[in-house]
Amino acid sequence: MSFRGRRDSTEATPLLQDSLDEEQQQKLWPPNPKSRGIVWGSLTLTFLIALVLVLGFNNEFGDVVRPWLGFLPKDPLLAAQIILRDAPVIDGHIDLPFLVRSQYSNNVTAVDLASRIPGHVDIPRLIKGKVGGFFWSTYVPCPKPDGVDGDFLDASWRVRDTLEQIDVSKLLIEKYPKTFRLALTTDDIKEAINSRKIASLLGVEGGHQLGNSIAVLRQYHALGVRYVTLTHTCHNAFADSCGYLPGMIPLHGGLSALGKSLIEEMNRLGVLVDLSHTSDATTTQALRHSKAPVIWSHSSARAVHDVPRNIPDEVLRLIGTGEGQKDGVVMVNFAPFFVANPGEATVAAVADHVEHIAKIAGIAHVGLGSDFDGIEDVPIGLEDVSKYPALIAELYRRGWNKYALAGLTGANLLRVFEGAERVARLLQLAGTEPKFDVYNKRPDL
Ligand SMILES: [Zn+2]
Repeated sequence: MSFRGRRDSTEATPLLQDSLDEEQQQKLWPPNPKSRGIVWGSLTLTFLIALVLVLGFNNEFGDVVRPWLGFLPKDPLLAAQIILRDAPVIDGHIDLPFLVRSQYSNNVTAVDLASRIPGHVDIPRLIKGKVGGFFWSTYVPCPKPDGVDGDFLDASWRVRDTLEQIDVSKLLIEKYPKTFRLALTTDDIKEAINSRKIASLLGVEGGHQLGNSIAVLRQYHALGVRYVTLTHTCHNAFADSCGYLPGMIPLHGGLSALGKSLIEEMNRLGVLVDLSHTSDATTTQALRHSKAPVIWSHSSARAVHDVPRNIPDEVLRLIGTGEGQKDGVVMVNFAPFFVANPGEATVAAVADHVEHIAKIAGIAHVGLGSDFDGIEDVPIGLEDVSKYPALIAELYRRGWNKYALAGLTGANLLRVFEGAERVARLLQLAGTEPKFDVYNKRPDL
């Protein structure tokens, strides 16, 4: 019987107790030797645990103890592995489909992603790199990479070639159903990651792949495309590109009227507006015109390395949720030419871009868009998709906590994508009509 059970307590005052009478106190004191042993034993054990914790936290042994207590290990690479287990990488731009085109003539049967293949991406390395999702870039080159393609009316197979890139992507995703899952929505991405699969999204890398037609955008969306980069390295009927090297002469001065309609249709459909490759004028106009949050699927910071493909600080300052800003995520590009001077592109240099964008635009507006399989060279230490943990470790070493790193690896992109889904839903609920603008130089319509 419990001590309390002998008291005359009531339901209303169960915790109120009278003081013990003398006889009862004598029964309790002094404690018998057995209870004394238990007390001393507990105290000694507590002291020893405290000693292990204090000493353990400051040496290698601490990295064994810390995760058990909910702390991250001090070793940056160990910590990165733990963070990535819960928050895997969602990369904004991977050119695997183009590698399949250029090296396998689109023959998906010949591509054995379960073993090591040329380039930067295959399943073993994706798993090692803790990848939870990526945009498969369906890319077709510009007709004239560094210049204006006349009136954009020349005979072209670019829509066909884009359809082939979409075909290749989907067939590879289907070929490995235990690894990949086609993702059309943010819910799909989360479900894929929760079931330990790699969420596979489709992006079209350039308005030149639309054949000047907003109807083509609608059909790409129907096939599963969830971002379109407004330009590649060439201008097109919709917008100006920043080109590749300095000196690109603008054509429209940013967006054309058709380009504005294209953005409105992307907003209505829920296709993300991707501003990588666009000129600064296109970028700022698109930021103003888009109702939905935007992305840069693979772009870095111009203040860190001054090339036209990188984003200047004045644009970074337009990203956010404040007055005159638009929500967005800049997914940092690993291409050495955009990262640093020749020979200086390293994990640390890429981390510098991440930190600069986080400093100017905010920590909630940076992500990862490697450009793997679309770049010939790679940074030292970021040689392929197995190396993302090295970048996460570098940032952890610099003081980034797990929440900031989870934002970088994927949560920031998810928020932006959810924002675009919300805008699309609202526009459709409001009965917004599809766009039927025709390119004014088309002779057939
Ligand atoms: Zn690109």
